[in-house]
Amino acid sequence: MNDIDMVMQNAQDAFNSYKTLSPAQRAVFLNEIAAALEAARTSLVPVAHEESNLPLPRLNGELSRTTNQLKMFARLIEEGSWVEAAIDTADKNRTPPKPDTRKMLLPVGPVVVFGASNFPFAFSTAGGDTASALASGSSVVIKGHSAHAKTSQLVFEAIQKAIAKTGVHAHTVQHVLGSGSTAGKALVIHPNTTGVGFTGSFSGGKALWEYANQRETPIPVFAEMSSINPVVFLPDTLEQNTVALAKSYAASVTLGMGQFCTNPGLLLAVQSEALDNFLNLLGAEITQIIPQKMLHSGIHTSYHKALDRALSQKGIEKIGESEQQAGDGEAFPTVARVKGNIFLQNPHFREEVFGPYSLAVCCDSKEELIAVLKQLKGQLTTTVMATDADIAANYDIIDLQTTLAGRIILNDVPTGVEVCASMVHGGPYPATTDARFTSVGTTAIKRWVRPVCFQGFNDRMLPDALKNSNPQYIWRIVNNEWTNAAISK
Ligand code: NAP
Repeated sequence: MNDIDMVMQNAQDAFNSYKTLSPAQRAVFLNEIAAALEAARTSLVPVAHEESNLPLPRLNGELSRTTNQLKMFARLIEEGSWVEAAIDTADKNRTPPKPDTRKMLLPVGPVVVFGASNFPFAFSTAGGDTASALASGSSVVIKGHSAHAKTSQLVFEAIQKAIAKTGVHAHTVQHVLGSGSTAGKALVIHPNTTGVGFTGSFSGGKALWEYANQRETPIPVFAEMSSINPVVFLPDTLEQNTVALAKSYAASVTLGMGQFCTNPGLLLAVQSEALDNFLNLLGAEITQIIPQKMLHSGIHTSYHKALDRALSQKGIEKIGESEQQAGDGEAFPTVARVKGNIFLQNPHFREEVFGPYSLAVCCDSKEELIAVLKQLKGQLTTTVMATDADIAANYDIIDLQTTLAGRIILNDVPTGVEVCASMVHGGPYPATTDARFTSVGTTAIKRWVRPVCFQGFNDRMLPDALKNSNPQYIWRIVNNEWTNAAISK
């Protein structure tokens, strides 16, 4: 048996044990992971800082987000209604007799999570994918990201403390460090693996999705990959709010040196004097941004390669770049502009440039702007900056934007993703591999479950969520009515 076989056998054994725990027991485990991470904060944050070049305040905030996510999923499963219990009681007098059928969501099995380089805590070892999978009752194998391997190991050690304290199966969470194309691939194609979570490059996500679909038994891969997050500026707001818009857009493009999947990489507007003023101000804002180190040398190299490729395209014009030269490993913030008709002819302009870069597409007419929007592929977010008058005159644009992305934002920047029940951090391909799901917020748990219907079962054989007495007092659909009451027999 090789190492990966051993890991996945352990993951299966752990799943068989972990899935039998009550939601309350799983919630205790999630809360203990949060507590262990909090206890390790002073050692975790400096190591993550050293490995990722991210500033300490950002990492402290991200660690809090991570522990809050774990606690959020603990509350979700303690409350319990997320399992979508639906019950249709038997009717022996019907012709033909109606059977007793009861449905709920159950965990899929061992899940493999790929840590993301740009969120060493919140989207990595104990991040949202791991927290949601553990909440569902699945066991987890983490493929740690090599760019923050020490942080990943320390986070895993905190998880192990929670395992020891709560007595859950020792292999409920396992940690593998190694290359994606060997260890990562072996984990995805292993027969015991039932689902995969990933955040990173389009090429990486697509490769995992292909491995998963070439298996004898294909499995779902929830990959969050590439997005340029188009922002539409409508004419009245450009006229009225020029300065504020230029400042907030420049801040969003360069936040975290552009290393967010929601970074606004594309700006669309119809040509006007107000647009020219806005772009001049935006260019001036960008000159003031000081280059900073990127997450790792690979991301730095790919940013500058992609930036050079974008800037070498015919018809592109730089409108602002940092006044300071970029040092070793640092990103060079840049904004550029191109005319709408040239954008439409060149697919390179639609490619993600992961870093502090944005391209303004200046269209000759509203019709051309709509043609540009129609040409774009699936996105995580799309934004519209608009006054009430703009909205009244351009609802067709907003309607089109809702078909494009998982989240549409009015008068705010796309960077900054709230972790809550209503969040959708997902979108049509190639933003993700499955637009029906989100990787942020409570409904991220739905990626790791499947519905199972129990037909004709005795009450004592049913899971608690489906029992007549409704011991968890959860909301269920009983004979087509929402209720949290017990079923009287
Ligand atoms: P990545 O290269 O996609 O790697 C993420 C994880 O997937 C790593 O563990 C990696 O393993 C693994 N992996 C990559 N390709 C694989 C393959 N063909 N088979 C199996 N496993 C594979 O992402 P990254 O290192 O975070 O950054 C690289 C680029 O991704 C960036 O320059 C940026 O363009 C993009 N990115 C996008 C987002 C976004 O949210 N849109 C976020 C982060 C990064 P190894 O470490 O062994 O390669």
